Amino acid sequence: MKWFDYAAPTTLGETIGLLVSHPGARLLAGGTDLLVQLRAGRKPTDLVIDTKRIPALNALNYDPGTGLTIGAAVPCYRIYRDTAIARAYPSLIEVASLIGGTQIQGRASLGGNLCNAAPSADSVPLLIALGAQCQIAGARGTREVSVEDFCTAPGRNVLEPGELLVALHLPPPRPHSGARYLRFIPRNEMDIAVAGVGVEVDLDNGTFRSARIALAAVAPTPLFVREAGDSLAGKPVNEASIARAAEIARNAAQPITDMRGTADYRRHICAVLTRRALETAVQRAREKK
Ligand SMILES: Cc1cc2nc3c(=O)[nH]c(=O)nc-3n(C[C@H](O)[C@H](O)[C@H](O)COP(=O)(O)OP(=O)(O)OC[C@H]3O[C@@H](n4cnc5c(N)ncnc54)[C@H](O)[C@@H]3O)c2cc1C
Repeated sequence: MKWFDYAAPTTLGETIGLLVSHPGARLLAGGTDLLVQLRAGRKPTDLVIDTKRIPALNALNYDPGTGLTIGAAVPCYRIYRDTAIARAYPSLIEVASLIGGTQIQGRASLGGNLCNAAPSADSVPLLIALGAQCQIAGARGTREVSVEDFCTAPGRNVLEPGELLVALHLPPPRPHSGARYLRFIPRNEMDIAVAGVGVEVDLDNGTFRSARIALAAVAPTPLFVREAGDSLAGKPVNEASIARAAEIARNAAQPITDMRGTADYRRHICAVLTRRALETAVQRAREKK
């Protein structure tokens, strides 16, 4: 591995200063993607900036009135160990618990999962379904971007030079809502998804008030399929409505054929996972007290 300098700033201002003065610097959260890429020579740099000591990137705050803020460097284990978050966002706990294994979850963050911008990133479809916003800071101030607009191509995102992701913000869960992320991998764990689906539904007695559906690993970026969720709005909660939404998700997928599966197979998996994820999300919404 090529040598590089290491900085561990403790303020946001210092971090942005380093990003501005070192345009080729790489930010490190858990390092579970970055260190692999540095070792493979895929992301050469002469400065790695560790973000784990910056308070705003390590904050984890849940308020039932305003929602959940997850600092960009908060490791997965801190999310699933928090009982209030587990009660409010069970689907998020499932995602935080399926990224890698226990050792990876001790370091890996949802911020890193998103910024790495892999089409297969497991947390991103669920973050999209839950309506998460990215809080971004840079030399020119702060801005917000919806998670569905954050990834622009494999390994690329909307961050401008000198900017970093500070936190993810999720709105408070609505009283009659439920969510679920499902992925298909050939092994039980430690594999890249052949396809993944994140959904959230909001129910109004026997009908869908609204729904959001996003896909992983079937397009150059995580894919928000707005029309699939919108197709459910105002429709009765039944097999036909769900099958129609699953069909729209299937048709929106733009998968490639590779060693993990053919494009047709991936489209088929999208429909199956969308249907199953919607069924579980509906059940969760109904069971909510
Ligand atoms: C064995 C193994 C198993 C894995 N299993 C899974 C899996 O099941 N599902 C899955 O989705 N992924 C998996 N991964 C990939 C990886 O663990 C996840 O993507 C993880 O969430 C990355 O988080 P991190 O904190 O380690 O990010 P890092 O590696 O620290 O950073 C990732 C990228 O984001 C950039 N970055 C970090 N912080 C910021 C910031 N604040 N602002 C802007 N850019 C930033 C970095 O420069 C880098 O390019 C696995 C990796 C390994 C090694």
